[in-house]
Amino acid sequence: MGRIRLLSETVASQVAAGEVVERPASVVKELVENSLDAGARNIDIAIRRGGISLVRVIDDGCGMDRDDALLSLERHATSKIRSATDLQAVATLGFRGEALPSIASVSRFRLTTREGDAIAGTEIIVNGGKIDVVRDGGEAPGTQVEVRSLFYNLPARRKFLRSENTESRNIEHQIHLQAIGHPEIGFSLMRDDRILFQLPATATLGDRIRDLYGVDLLQRLVEVNGAASAKIGISGFIGQAGLSRQTRSQQLVFVNGRAIESNLITGAAREGYHTALMKGQYPVTFLFLELDPGAVDVNVHPAKREVRFRDPNGVREAVIRCIQQTLEQARADWQEKFRAPIRPGPAAAISAKAAPDLSLRPEVTAPEVTHRELPHLGAVSGVADPGRAPSEIVGQALRLPEHLPQQRVTKPAQQQFEIIGVLSKLYVLMENANGLVLVDQHAAHERVLFEELRRRMEEQGVPTQKLLLPQTFDVPPRDADWIEQNLSVLQKMGIGIEGFGPDTFKIDSLPSFLDVSNAAQFMRKVIDDLKSAGTSASAMRLGEEMIAKTVCRHAVKANDPLLYPEVEKLIRDLLDCDLPYCCPHGRPTMIQISLAELDKKFGRKV
Ligand code: ADP
Ligand code: MG
Repeated sequence: MGRIRLLSETVASQVAAGEVVERPASVVKELVENSLDAGARNIDIAIRRGGISLVRVIDDGCGMDRDDALLSLERHATSKIRSATDLQAVATLGFRGEALPSIASVSRFRLTTREGDAIAGTEIIVNGGKIDVVRDGGEAPGTQVEVRSLFYNLPARRKFLRSENTESRNIEHQIHLQAIGHPEIGFSLMRDDRILFQLPATATLGDRIRDLYGVDLLQRLVEVNGAASAKIGISGFIGQAGLSRQTRSQQLVFVNGRAIESNLITGAAREGYHTALMKGQYPVTFLFLELDPGAVDVNVHPAKREVRFRDPNGVREAVIRCIQQTLEQARADWQEKFRAPIRPGPAAAISAKAAPDLSLRPEVTAPEVTHRELPHLGAVSGVADPGRAPSEIVGQALRLPEHLPQQRVTKPAQQQFEIIGVLSKLYVLMENANGLVLVDQHAAHERVLFEELRRRMEEQGVPTQKLLLPQTFDVPPRDADWIEQNLSVLQKMGIGIEGFGPDTFKIDSLPSFLDVSNAAQFMRKVIDDLKSAGTSASAMRLGEEMIAKTVCRHAVKANDPLLYPEVEKLIRDLLDCDLPYCCPHGRPTMIQISLAELDKKFGRKV
């Protein structure tokens, strides 16, 4: 009896602040969102000592009159929604009416604001949630919020703050998100009285990315094209295949203008990149999803960092498809560079000359030299001969299709590239219409073999090999369930598996290009991999991973000397690939250095 009490308004705000205001970056986020919602064209942010001693956000938005300014500091006071129905389709960044009172309850807070046509503005000073001063203020139209001594009255919270540097970096990241999300708004950031950046309002996202991250990054991005489906629009930029990062920090995703974190979308992006992304690396994305506000629930996370989609699978599939299509388009652009003939006119005759005149290594032999069998390729085993049932091949050494030519390739009338030589027994140097191209022969061969094997696997299924002794193994009930539902997929992947009692399975055959000593252990990994790849992963997914590993072992290595026509065939095969510019592990296969870049380096052009 009598143990339950209503909390005072101030304490209630501090409790709410615990969720909304985690660290200085959350203050910045909430204030900048308010400025954006207020229709600001320019937002200037200043921080001191990692935002702990000061966060100040100045905007030129609509401002507030005195009554609204006072109300804005009340909990659950907002101009953005009115009813529960509005909550179903929120079009603003804020909607809970919690940020300002929460922040004001855990800091020394000052708000000055003026509406455009008002004679006088308002200044309000709040300390630890208590309003101390309300008076006329004479600032420019718009709103200015100063938050000093964050958590001064909550020492426990203060202790959890990280170093000033870390907090500053969090803030910078937060402002990067907002600046990328709103290229049409000018942003500036001052850190400890030093200007970190000043971003003018720009017409396009590309301009904003260039201003913030530099032209080099922009050049390695491809623009995502247009509508993914009737219900979801996807735009923005993504990194070309081969561009990746060790952290998620440049994996930006926006839903209806709101920066969000979403495993669903980052997972879909990874799936879309597939072999174009190195394992353990993260893609660079500036992805903008536009959905009907009613199809997204933004009211699921205290800091509004996550959202829930009404149709998560639709979103997932749209993102995957969009990324795949964008990368394929980029491939077409890249191939375009090789379509133009080099040195048109009479000069083309020179390029058709038999021997490359600049052979850097004796191994790059002139085409007249007779062609030998390539031992390193003959050794590759892995795929069934066409027209034979997989079972016939069991136990027999499998041969790869002959990749490199036995006959000299007939040259097209006009040559699109010319091999100059091989550097360090690894990098093929070539010339194309655009300038210089460097190719990593190992990575290139991996990609060629990978796509060839995958094609065969899709056409003929995975060749299998019977185990000498069938093996049984147990799995936890949930995995057993999963296996049962996916039996046909597994069989298609060359895994001969059947039920053998409750939660027990028997394997009697495996893909023949696998070297598996422990079938049960292998199966557990397969289950984990496939589960995480999600439902849309094709039955070929596992096969692809196995192939990627196999081709790595069998592709020509650095130091493997290649004959001139072999190199040439390799390059042609590479250019015919679906994703020519990266190996199956996502590393680049080719680097283009344009003549313009060379001219610049040699100071011929400014
Ligand atoms: P919310 O953004 O969820 O509505 P806040 O506590 O962040 O809640 O803000 C409360 C209200 O104060 C907002 O709804 C808005 O009307 C007003 N407000 C806050 N910041 C600004 C600003 N920079 N310019 C104009 N109005 C603002
Ligand atoms: Mg707000």
